[in-house]
Amino acid sequence: MGESAEEIYRRVQEAAGPDGRLAMPPVHEWDTFPFDGEIRVRSLEPPVAEEPPRHGVGGIGCGRCQRGDATALWHDENWRVVPTDRPHGLPVIVMLETRAHLDLPDLSDEMAAELGRLVVRVERAVRSVGEIGRVHVCRWGDGSEHFHVWFMARPARLPQLIGSFAAIWDDILPPTPEDVWRANVDAVARALAEPA
Ligand SMILES: [Zn+2]
Repeated sequence: MGESAEEIYRRVQEAAGPDGRLAMPPVHEWDTFPFDGEIRVRSLEPPVAEEPPRHGVGGIGCGRCQRGDATALWHDENWRVVPTDRPHGLPVIVMLETRAHLDLPDLSDEMAAELGRLVVRVERAVRSVGEIGRVHVCRWGDGSEHFHVWFMARPARLPQLIGSFAAIWDDILPPTPEDVWRANVDAVARALAEPA
């Protein structure tokens, strides 16, 4: 039995200072931490009764189903690869997603094997953009009900952008110029169009 939200919350309250806040970790020592100056930890809100629903639950009002393959850079009968709908701070971000409303544990052995091959294929396609230091392959899954994996291209030779804070730097950096972003997205699509 895992620790319940109430138990975690109680433990946090016991560990928190008189203002109800936990101490800051030594982020000022981390080269990749994007922020400077006085920062406080937010108070942890009490647990909620149930998990909030994800986007497009049961396919009702699901933006991804409505969009279909219209914006996909590549697709087959089970999967599609889609870019973000606009330029971001990172040079290019694409998502590999299931066409169906499936979660990771729902994948058949066949789709699990396809996923393994596709993760490598999409990473290579994103890397083909050039000037990419790493492609961060991330699965969070709290948003869309379609299983999806993020591929975040991290620019080469900017050491502060390494690691998981790249996802935060993505919101901080000025958006990639539209023409550069389009060329990056096109490069990913071209690479995916080549035979696997
Ligand atoms: Zn859907």
